Amino acid sequence: MIAVLEPGCSLKQKAAIVRSIEAEGFRVQVSEHGGRSLVGVVGSGAARMEIQLRAMPGVEEVQPVAPPYPLVSRAGHPQPTRIRIGDVVVGGKQIVVIGGPCSVESREQLLTAAGYVSASGASMLRGGAFKPRTSPYSFQGLGEEGLKLLAEAREKTGLPIVTEVVAPQDVALVARYADVLQIGARNMQNYRLLTEVGQQPKPVLLKRGLMATLQELLLAAEYVVSSGNPRVMLCERGIRTYEKATRNTLDIGAIPWLKERTHLPIVADPSHACGIRTLVTPLALASVAAGADAIIVETHPNPAEALSDKEQALLPEDFRAMMDALRRVAVAVGREVREPRQA
Ligand code: PEP
Ligand code: MN
Repeated sequence: MIAVLEPGCSLKQKAAIVRSIEAEGFRVQVSEHGGRSLVGVVGSGAARMEIQLRAMPGVEEVQPVAPPYPLVSRAGHPQPTRIRIGDVVVGGKQIVVIGGPCSVESREQLLTAAGYVSASGASMLRGGAFKPRTSPYSFQGLGEEGLKLLAEAREKTGLPIVTEVVAPQDVALVARYADVLQIGARNMQNYRLLTEVGQQPKPVLLKRGLMATLQELLLAAEYVVSSGNPRVMLCERGIRTYEKATRNTLDIGAIPWLKERTHLPIVADPSHACGIRTLVTPLALASVAAGADAIIVETHPNPAEALSDKEQALLPEDFRAMMDALRRVAVAVGREVREPRQA
């Protein structure tokens, strides 16, 4: 439930409202929008506070029928959230492209990828140092060594880095190096991990689980935001369906559906959605046309030698061509993509 306060609500009135909610055992989440304070009443049974809140001085209206994810819902927060990471803004007019290898494998591999990703006009660099692999015998990532290489690539290119954290006990370590913490599809419902990334300040890129509904994705985001971190991006990365022709099925409808219901920025991952190199660019274009704010794409200087996800990695020239095509589609839908950088 959300109480919308009057524009002229005094600090004293606001404090009294917050106290009365806490006295009933609920948590309070206050946000400011357009000169107005929105007070979220968090906890089961919050609806019983409706009458009491309506009667309090300073309260303009109470929205009782809130979705089960009040903090990430558009209902109490009509303006889209913009997340600033250095000089990059996710959720604004510019479509942010995040490019890089599935896994950080070596200094040379990462710095080469970072070089052409940056030159092509991408805004952030991705690369996994802790890899959630289906088989325990597959490459598991370089761990902290990989994080150090990512930090070096950031130093060289100026690109902020996005990298996955797979365990609650690694959050502090990964957050020391990363600009954005990725929660992978397999961990979308790891609630201890969600709470942990919610208690540190770096933005979070939260991927949809392989078999998660959109409501479950929004509730997972609610975990992070209600733990204290409002800077969350949601990522549609394909779901498991009966169709075996592609690795997963990109739920393109999820993008506008989520946009209607949440103020958080939406990212699309066409790479894991299809698992097939030649399909990645068309799906990236479709995602931008459908309203995605950012695209996260895997690319490798030499995909044949990649240690993970080699079938879906774009070649350097594919990546550049995708960027050009994205620019044209972005313009058609009133958005823009960064221009290539001069060497
Ligand atoms: C990844 O980004 O490399 C990854 C493992 O993604 P997902 O969690 O979507 O499978
Ligand atoms: Mn991958």
